[in-house]
Amino acid sequence: MQANVTRNGAILLGKHVACDSHDKTRLLRVVTHAHADHMTGLQQSLRNCNAVVMTPATKDLIDVLKGPRCLQRGNVKAIEYDEPLDVDGERLTLHKVDHILGAAQVLVEDAVGNRILYTGDFRLPNTPVIKSDILIAMSQAAYDKYLEDTAPGSIIFFDEKEVSKKEFNGIRQIGIPATSCALSQTGGKQVANIIILGAAVSVTNVVNKESLLWAIRENVDKRYLDLNQRSMETGFALGDERWLSLEERTGR
Ligand SMILES: [Zn+2]
Repeated sequence: MQANVTRNGAILLGKHVACDSHDKTRLLRVVTHAHADHMTGLQQSLRNCNAVVMTPATKDLIDVLKGPRCLQRGNVKAIEYDEPLDVDGERLTLHKVDHILGAAQVLVEDAVGNRILYTGDFRLPNTPVIKSDILIAMSQAAYDKYLEDTAPGSIIFFDEKEVSKKEFNGIRQIGIPATSCALSQTGGKQVANIIILGAAVSVTNVVNKESLLWAIRENVDKRYLDLNQRSMETGFALGDERWLSLEERTGR
């Protein structure tokens, strides 16, 4: 199961779901919360999608912000947190997130148990972490807090300089020298997150490389674009190298 980001800013999860912007190939549109930048193309989704999904509180907020007739133009499905919605072999659930009233993170699971989660906007530490298959830990505090929230069979990517690893059964752990590389290549830590993200994407293929590059181009100031693209490539190379040596050690 894959996730992707479209040029309209829609986050595509699994086969049927588009979050936070309209996508004409998707049956379901999810509005994670009522901030304007997450309601792009809402009218198109109301006209064209089988259902537009949100929490009841987000629906109430949109009714107040845009008038009650706005959402009446389509099939709005207001579902509570943790209330599953089955769509053609996939299961969608909204989960609490600490952001604004009604805000949700979106979990999509397929029939064979693959799970993919889009958090939308959130604040820590009060956003619950949904049991994850891929964890990226850049600090010891995050690693210690979320290690036990990873599902069996998951992969953890941790920063070798910032995190000391603990053995944990049934989980593959890959150390990436993200902070060390960032410091030696740029003199600062700023691109460490892009390096470790590149490594995680190269190993898991959870989004394709083009989507990641596009997201970097869309979100990074022009002055730092080249630096971020090079850092992503560094991360891809490190991910490939560490994954190969893990496979050699464990004979996978
Ligand atoms: Zn927001």
